[in-house]
Amino acid sequence: MDKNRQLATIKIAVNDAARLIAVKETQLLNTDPEESFDRLTKLASKLLKTPISFVTLLEANRDFVKSHFGLPEPIATQREITAHPSFCQHIVSHREPLILEDARKSALFKDFPSVLNMGVRAYAGIPLITVEGQALGTCCVVDFKPRKWKKDEIEILKELAKSVMTEINLKQIAYKLKKENEYKDEFINIASHELKTPLTSLKLYTQRLQRKFIKNEQLENVEDIDKVVKQLARLDILVTDLLDLTRIQGDKLSLNKTKFDLNLLVEEIIESLQQTTHHKILYQSTLKKYIRADRERIGQVITNLVSNAVKYSPKADKVVIKLVENNNNAQINIQDFGIGILPKNITKLFERFYRVTGSKESKYSGLGLGLYISSEIINSHHGRIWVDSVYGQGSTFNITLPLQ
Ligand code: ADP
Repeated sequence: MDKNRQLATIKIAVNDAARLIAVKETQLLNTDPEESFDRLTKLASKLLKTPISFVTLLEANRDFVKSHFGLPEPIATQREITAHPSFCQHIVSHREPLILEDARKSALFKDFPSVLNMGVRAYAGIPLITVEGQALGTCCVVDFKPRKWKKDEIEILKELAKSVMTEINLKQIAYKLKKENEYKDEFINIASHELKTPLTSLKLYTQRLQRKFIKNEQLENVEDIDKVVKQLARLDILVTDLLDLTRIQGDKLSLNKTKFDLNLLVEEIIESLQQTTHHKILYQSTLKKYIRADRERIGQVITNLVSNAVKYSPKADKVVIKLVENNNNAQINIQDFGIGILPKNITKLFERFYRVTGSKESKYSGLGLGLYISSEIINSHHGRIWVDSVYGQGSTFNITLPLQ
């Protein structure tokens, strides 16, 4: 084949649409240098004793340098080779290793820009080929003097090219997982917003009905509507948790801090929760000072912990709440006498969606978000939240919040 036809063939192969899509899908184009790739190019130069080594991903008009060792300026900074035709293009089009002892001796390569302008003499490059068979780019080494490549050296380069390919695949998997997570978060965000509006109207209408039934003394209806109100309240907690989750994820959990009496807040919560449970909620406090915090959010945390204390101790008859001053902090302890938590599960308790699995625990429903949201709220107040528990005997959830 004459030289012009060879160069035309290279161009056609490099511009192949499916190949270009595969390169784009690596999600590595224009990314910053990454240590995992840099380590491999450095190793290539060290093992093969070459002044230059690099990894490229080939687009239509440029060879993007994903990683390199020893490339001169301006390529080192720009991280792209646009002087074409290039050896990398030749490798990608032929999908085979290119091993040159002295490029000047080849009719095809002697006029390549890297030979004429950079002084490249010896070259060895391996194509990076995906499992689907697309040639993405190359892993190559360069020398400025002619050199006979040993068989072992080419084997080493092939192994390094395989490692580069593994790295590319890993990055692609990580990217896909990240994207899937983002879609899930987006779905939760939209779904919870969409659910909140009809739920709020439903709550209003049922409350109105409830008042009407009570006024007209329609006792049977009152009983039924009470059940609806209770279930709606449960649904409201779930949807609110999902909304909070998306706020936390988007760093949008804003705090409205005011100075207030924590005792009063705890008393209000107890009054409200006491109506929903047979557990006696006992309360002792020695705290005299006010705290500065988001009253509603702190109320949400305490409500959540007390509700959990009730929920996870069905056979117990009490929950004990203590409020004290401790080292310039307000400290709240919420103690239950329920199922308790195994030590191995305690560290994971505050992770999002985490729920303890086991025959005892599986009968309780929930999303596993309450403790995650609570810990985010407490952390954003520069406080601490932790749990002490004895499996089978009960748990104490503790919070500290800095006092003024
Ligand atoms: P949910 O209660 O909706 O599952 P949480 O985030 O509030 O979510 O709690 C996470 C998990 O921690 C629960 O599934 C439960 O296994 C465990 N847990 C929370 N509070 C208690 C408690 N007081 N006693 C025992 N286990 C608890």
